[in-house]
Amino acid sequence: MTSLPSRVPFEAKLGDLDRLFVKPRVLPYRIIGKRPPRKGEYYLSGAIPAAYIAPNDLTTAYLIVEPVEPKPCPTCGHLG
Ligand SMILES: [Zn+2]
Repeated sequence: MTSLPSRVPFEAKLGDLDRLFVKPRVLPYRIIGKRPPRKGEYYLSGAIPAAYIAPNDLTTAYLIVEPVEPKPCPTCGHLG
């Protein structure tokens, strides 16, 4: 990954089957660090980066991220 987008799609935290039917939310994020993800953590992966939930403790280092919930714009209330 050369440059990272400011927002990435976040896989939904749902059951393995349900998550297939839920559109990932595109959210800003904060980077926690680079290390092997533990089960349930979000990590960035892919040529077009997206945040995936580690299905179990992984052994390869990735960027660990957390979604940042958008705040309503004070002017018009749109989620920014
Ligand atoms: Zn606005």
